Amino acid sequence: MSQTKFVLDESKMPKHWYNIAADLPVPPAPVLHPGTMQPVGPDDLAPLFPMELILQEVSTEREIPIPEPVREVFKLWRPSPLIRAHRLEKVLGTPAKIYYKYEGVSPAGSHKPNTAVPQAWYNAQAGVKKLSTETGAGQWGSSLSFAGSLFGLQVKVFQVRVSYDQKPYRRALMETYGATCVASPSNETNAGRAILAQRPDHPGSLGIAISEAVEVAATNDDTKYALGSVLNHVLLHQTIVGQEAMLQLEMAGDDPDVIVGCTGGGSNFAGISFPFIGQQLRGGKKRRIVAVEPAACPSLTRGKFAYDFGDTAHLTPLTKMHTLGSTFTPPGFHAGGLRYHGMAPLVSHLKELNLIEATAYHQNACFEAGVMFARAEGIVPAPEANHAVKGAIVEALRCKAEGRSEVILFNLCGHGHFDMTAYQNYFAGKLSDQSYDEAELAMALSGLPSVPA
Ligand SMILES: *Cc1c(COP(=O)(O)O)cnc(C)c1O
Repeated sequence: MSQTKFVLDESKMPKHWYNIAADLPVPPAPVLHPGTMQPVGPDDLAPLFPMELILQEVSTEREIPIPEPVREVFKLWRPSPLIRAHRLEKVLGTPAKIYYKYEGVSPAGSHKPNTAVPQAWYNAQAGVKKLSTETGAGQWGSSLSFAGSLFGLQVKVFQVRVSYDQKPYRRALMETYGATCVASPSNETNAGRAILAQRPDHPGSLGIAISEAVEVAATNDDTKYALGSVLNHVLLHQTIVGQEAMLQLEMAGDDPDVIVGCTGGGSNFAGISFPFIGQQLRGGKKRRIVAVEPAACPSLTRGKFAYDFGDTAHLTPLTKMHTLGSTFTPPGFHAGGLRYHGMAPLVSHLKELNLIEATAYHQNACFEAGVMFARAEGIVPAPEANHAVKGAIVEALRCKAEGRSEVILFNLCGHGHFDMTAYQNYFAGKLSDQSYDEAELAMALSGLPSVPA
């Protein structure tokens, strides 16, 4: 068997993030102020984010330096390994080569610390003392809690109610890092109280938790807000993943034909794929880039490309994205990190430009793929990552049927060690393949804000 693991020397760790805005053939639609319907400026965002991050949000520079103190922290787990899935290839009997970039080696167990650490650092540099945020499955909450503990920031996390109940160990992890975690909707904010008044047993959603976290930051001078996905600067920070993968595939002597990632808000997918898409946009090789989302929350495949709010209480600016409607509550399936009504504007824009493809699978098929992967490769993927595993297996089986030896790269964005209840439920046959509620989707989409052309 040829080489399995491609480990980059620490000295080769990228020193810049890659900004795809520099290479886009058409710029994305501007972000709008919901009151004036005019493009937002840096000052509009200043109550929520430190200026360095706002400048990254709107930057069109191709390379943005990763601050040295941030790279120092990254050395705790970066460069992350690239692994050739020889055993999975064998189980599948595919002529394809399958590589995965493994982001589960971070302290929080996913790709999220790649942006949590720089976000916390820029906030600390700006003199901020407290951060408020939301979390679904708890991956982002624990990542920001870890990053906050490094730079002396107090972190408050609003965790979506169903995940708060399903994943008690994620909360313990956040508390271990010194953060406070409350179930959302909560009684601590106007947004939360309004939802609870309508429905006291509301399971919560990322849209609601974002409203609560934004409200806390907007109404407290010493507090800023941090988001773990969707925004341009978050996607930017994740590009270290794809840049490392590029160097590691060079070591392996291979060049991917297909790149697969799962999409909740789009950040780990952007991280693995944007550096490769950028190469293509600058005249390089054309590859297939496949986003995999849950069939129960299918924003890219079934959502509308339209201006919408990022949260349920409509406190955020309007962004043009694939959306299921900001009031849409996805069913409580077991990939909490993928239960978001919208998709990153940059990922949505690339979809509209036909630079990426999107596909959706139900959770049982994804768990089946994840279990097959675990039994072949040893790593138990996070339920979110199972969507990428499923997507990669579908591509490998297509290669088998067509007799093609393509190179497949996918992002194994996190491990599932805190998600074993979901695996238990899968083995017990208790996972249902819920489709979203068509009537609720229609209602949520009919409530989209109207924006003059
Ligand atoms: C948060 C999370 C996701 C979804 O977020 P993206 O921004 O789409 O990457 C996916 N997988 C894991 C492991 C996560 O923690």
